[in-house]
Amino acid sequence: MSAPDLPPPAASGAGRYAPSPSGDLHLGNLRTAILAWALARRTQRAFHLRIEDLDRVREGSAQRQLEDLAALGLDWDGEVVHQSERGPAYAAAIATLESRGRVFECYCTRREILEAPSAPHSPPGAYPGTCRDLSPAARAAGRERMRALRREPALRLRTDVPTWSVHDLWAGEVTGVVDDLVLRRGDGVVAYNLAVVVDDAAAGVDQVVRADDLLSSAPRQAHLAHLLGLPEPGYAHVPLAVNTDGARLAKRDGAVTLRDRLERGESVPEVVGRIGESLGLPGCRTATDVLERWDPSMLPREPWVVELPA
Ligand code: GLU
Repeated sequence: MSAPDLPPPAASGAGRYAPSPSGDLHLGNLRTAILAWALARRTQRAFHLRIEDLDRVREGSAQRQLEDLAALGLDWDGEVVHQSERGPAYAAAIATLESRGRVFECYCTRREILEAPSAPHSPPGAYPGTCRDLSPAARAAGRERMRALRREPALRLRTDVPTWSVHDLWAGEVTGVVDDLVLRRGDGVVAYNLAVVVDDAAAGVDQVVRADDLLSSAPRQAHLAHLLGLPEPGYAHVPLAVNTDGARLAKRDGAVTLRDRLERGESVPEVVGRIGESLGLPGCRTATDVLERWDPSMLPREPWVVELPA
């Protein structure tokens, strides 16, 4: 495998870490955060933090996450952005898409979408296009139905490309399906895919480092950026952390957070050391050690199997 080139040093531009405040960050999240920070700093970029609190918020979690990232030695530029305060920016983006004929109302329930016959070549669960081209009368009936259900229609993107390609530092060129994705959900909450695009662009983020469960979302996000006339960022998706059964690391796996590890008598340098080891860097004690020693071309491409003493 040829080593990927490091992204060129940026005179401007930024990286970011964007946790959802649904609980404490586990070791896999912390590793991704360190790598996002290290890659940004290594390429002379700013580094921003954004709390993705549109959904699934646990009281106090955002503050604890920031404390944990600081405890690891990460620093960031500017104010921490909270998505819950960005409503007007998302509304403006939807209005822009609307003015370009790119938005339609969708009256389907989740179940109807799952049960509808899907278009050829589309992945399971992809939107089958049911409400894309309804007559005015069918739309009126759909709105009536939403009123009865006490829901808003969801807003979807009217897509006109089947796929879009992005560049990932490790995965290379990645082409993925773009469907008529949701922009605003039936409960009025702005969709993650829209929020992330609007927020990254507003913060000048041109380097998106995150876990690779989101790799398949990158093409649709980049396409959305394109439709909004925003620059498409470069991507660098980091393999997930898993438990010894190969399942995604989770709270139920035991002492998986920084605080859990500290309670078990580990120190911050030891936790960072554990993360460094997963990157092939034994002996790291600080995030700066990782920053200085990490060679992005050597990132293990398979999931990080986290083995924890009981
Ligand atoms: N908030 C997402 C998460 O915690 C990450 C989204 C992103 O980095 O684009 O999984």
